[in-house]
Amino acid sequence: MTSSGKKSYLFYQTRRRRPMLDQARDVYMWDVDGKRYLDGSSGAMVCNIGHSNPHVLEAMRRQMEKSTFGYRLHFETEPAERLAEKTASLTPAGLDKVFFVSGGSEAVESAIKLARQHAVAVGEAQRWKVISRQPSYHGCTLGALALTGYAPLTAPFDAMMRPMPKIPAPRAYLDGLDPDDEATGHRYADMLEARIVEEGPETVLAFINEPVGGASTGALVPPVGYMQRIREICDRYGVLLIHDEVMTGGGRTGRFFGADHWGVAPDIIAISKGFAAGYAPLGAMVAHERIVDPVLDAGGFLHGFTYAGNPLACAAGLAVIEEIETKGMMENAIRVGDVLKSRLSALMQRYPIVGDVRGKGLMLAFELVANRETMQPLPKELGAFDRLVEIAYDNGLIIYSRRTRGGYEGDHFMVCPPMIATEDHVEEIMDGLTRSLD
Ligand code: PMP
Repeated sequence: MTSSGKKSYLFYQTRRRRPMLDQARDVYMWDVDGKRYLDGSSGAMVCNIGHSNPHVLEAMRRQMEKSTFGYRLHFETEPAERLAEKTASLTPAGLDKVFFVSGGSEAVESAIKLARQHAVAVGEAQRWKVISRQPSYHGCTLGALALTGYAPLTAPFDAMMRPMPKIPAPRAYLDGLDPDDEATGHRYADMLEARIVEEGPETVLAFINEPVGGASTGALVPPVGYMQRIREICDRYGVLLIHDEVMTGGGRTGRFFGADHWGVAPDIIAISKGFAAGYAPLGAMVAHERIVDPVLDAGGFLHGFTYAGNPLACAAGLAVIEEIETKGMMENAIRVGDVLKSRLSALMQRYPIVGDVRGKGLMLAFELVANRETMQPLPKELGAFDRLVEIAYDNGLIIYSRRTRGGYEGDHFMVCPPMIATEDHVEEIMDGLTRSLD
């Protein structure tokens, strides 16, 4: 049934119905009954620059009147060339080969297939293992899913995927460690080294991680020293470093790429969501030339998606980046993000069940717990995860939630409005949240 009671011919993950969207503008969305919602999650952290941005709509309209699709093996297009150049200019030196895709899973899938083809091209065909973190989310295609540390999603497909090694995500707040102490960062990073050695370094192809953890860990900021140490370890063993910036990329944390906060350059970056910010399905894999060149020299990259790099999506992506830069949205994400984070932290005084508040820029989250001392999660039967989201909906506020702790227990909620949010919007979000938590 649709929300209006008619039979629906659509299906997604569950039978649960949602209100029917009518229109959206800036940080607000309206359903067909005229009810207004504050988009406190930017979709699934997609609509970073807000809805119905006139500059982007105009750029898309102009491109639509020229051409909407050109198959990449038949034509090059100007929007794709220009967006690739712009993207390369935003990445660390050398990462200037851009491969377009239409979403986050495709970007991750492309990254691991490029890494693998590079190993084969340089005579290291025994390298195939991609180490990732537990918990993590890297996508739903079988390659990206094999890297995903989230058992409820992966278990049914285990028989179809080659198992990939996992190391613990650096959740210092759960392990009672100080995230501001470099020893903590090194302790978690050294787990990567131990795992590479255990697996046999000659078999390890790559390590993938999200610079700031997304849906699986709820805006998890790595401890001091972690990112740099991971880079050193990868270099020591000839393991490629892949940053999954599908959620963090596009300015959300206050820098265009999340890893820019630590000045660490990976070998390959996967980006999507905020790249075209919901205006078109778009993603990219950006790789260092030294990874791409041997693959192309050896006969070509055996991979590609039909819709990749279509001019309409690329025109949208280019206009999105222009808006982020000219409107100072990353600076706003830091400024308003700081205000929102301190207001969220204040919830801990009022509600003992708020166990942790974390994040960077406008990628923020809070976690509900039964006991703040032990960080024991709320009982699953309580269904706090679904209930808080539902109540917030009733209060006209959309937040993004996930069960954490490996997917079995614990509840965190991401609060990440578009990067155009103001302090007034922060007040509105806090009002909706406190009413919901009450
Ligand atoms: N990687 C990360 C970090 C993500 O957050 C997501 C989506 N939540 C993906 C990959 C997969 O992206 P998509 O859903 O666009 O395929």
